[in-house]
Amino acid sequence: MRKLNFKKFKFLKSLKTRIFLIVFIVGLIPSIVMRHAILTNYEQRAVSVRMSDVQIQLRILANHLVTYRYLQDTSSEVVNAELAQLSNLYDGRVLIINDNLKVIKDTYGISEGKTMISEEVIRCLRGENVSQYDAANGFIEMTTPIIDTLAVSDLKGTKPVKGDMASGVMLTSISTDYITATMDVLGRKALVVEVLVIIAVFIVSGLAAFILVKPFEKITGALSNVKEGYTNDPIFVPDCLETEHIGDAFNKVLSRMKVLDDSRQEFVSNVSHELKTPITSIKVLADSLRGQEGVPLEVYQEFMEDIAEEIDRENKIINDLLALIKMDRAASDLNISQVDINLLVELIMRRLGPIALKRDIELVYESLRSVTAEVDEVKITLVITNLIENAIKYNKEHGWVKVTVDADYQYFSIEVADSGIGIPPEDVEHIYERFYRVDKSHSKEIDGTGLGLAITRGAILMHRGSIRVVSEEGEGTTFTVRIPLTYIAVT
Ligand code: ADP
Repeated sequence: MRKLNFKKFKFLKSLKTRIFLIVFIVGLIPSIVMRHAILTNYEQRAVSVRMSDVQIQLRILANHLVTYRYLQDTSSEVVNAELAQLSNLYDGRVLIINDNLKVIKDTYGISEGKTMISEEVIRCLRGENVSQYDAANGFIEMTTPIIDTLAVSDLKGTKPVKGDMASGVMLTSISTDYITATMDVLGRKALVVEVLVIIAVFIVSGLAAFILVKPFEKITGALSNVKEGYTNDPIFVPDCLETEHIGDAFNKVLSRMKVLDDSRQEFVSNVSHELKTPITSIKVLADSLRGQEGVPLEVYQEFMEDIAEEIDRENKIINDLLALIKMDRAASDLNISQVDINLLVELIMRRLGPIALKRDIELVYESLRSVTAEVDEVKITLVITNLIENAIKYNKEHGWVKVTVDADYQYFSIEVADSGIGIPPEDVEHIYERFYRVDKSHSKEIDGTGLGLAITRGAILMHRGSIRVVSEEGEGTTFTVRIPLTYIAVT
């Protein structure tokens, strides 16, 4: 089936037009069907009534024909008068045909003496009554057998047998002009009614289209108001369930957009703030050096070291921000390859060894299964490094960090447990937020940007993995990362 090309019939795209057309057509069909049905019904009924009326008359007449032996002698005045009356009454013509197919009487007086060979006449001679209506020419044709019971019994000496006993046929045609005339009148009246119905249905369809589409126009107006920026209020069009649903869905999108917008603003202000802090410190340090004269070299050096530290911090924030932005990009940026996870963890732990050693923290590695997985090596390295770095940073002197690698048939897991300071329960849900750092007091001593876990989580989600944390304040924290062994790209 070919699809309707709406480009050609652009007006059909309008809901208003569609409703109008549907209601109009549905309203119109019954009235057209009814007019047609009534007229046809009337015609059939009128024709059949007339046929049976005339048939009765003809049977009576047929009996008279036999009684007066009309087939032998057509001079009977009684019968002739009856024939004339019948043809006048029904505006018709009667032919009397004998069993030699000869026309012995024609009320029009045209065909007398002629031979009439027609199927109907022959069938009638066998005793069949044939009636037919010729609507196109406006007449009914009927054949009536003239049954001469006496003649038949004379001939055969038996009881009359149905089928071959007619001794003549009356072929009658009567005009149906009066039925046609009544039909014309009826048809005209029906047409007037139909026109009235069309007008009424037209008005009703127009009203239905207008009323049904109005709520949608209202909702479009309300949406435009939001789009043009006149208002940011939620929209509410309770006119019908559908518009209410559209309104609800739109309000949800609107509030999501608000949340996104707020978080973007918060992010920008956090970024500015974080980037400003080291610069302010550098400025203060530089100004205090500039403001004094004859500053000893050691003080200069000390201040310069502080300035260098602040620059390092600024650098770290910028690097982390760049890493975070990279994570936000599409997952197609992933550079997937087969990676030996056990080897990778070992390498990272070896690299971080010196930092742990500084605080006398023991690094323990346990591999429960040898794992090779399809991952982006750089991003997974970042994940493991961040988690182990945090476990070292937020640990106590002489503490421990234990990294366990395991796998099942679908996922591999890396667990990083530490004996550190832990995370207060109220902060746990926020630690993945950008720039979020627990307890600002110790965050001053411990170096960090608050971006590490946001980057970590981003990288894990890109691999369709998950990260979970269990922590007890003062006791320690355990992060568990689960990532599918095979990478499934989104289609
Ligand atoms: P940061 O640069 O501050 O380390 P992260 O995003 O890596 O930023 O961590 C966010 C916060 O979560 C940290 O400031 C810290 O308070 C807390 N945190 C992260 N890992 C640990 C851990 N292993 N133990 C205790 N607290 C942690």
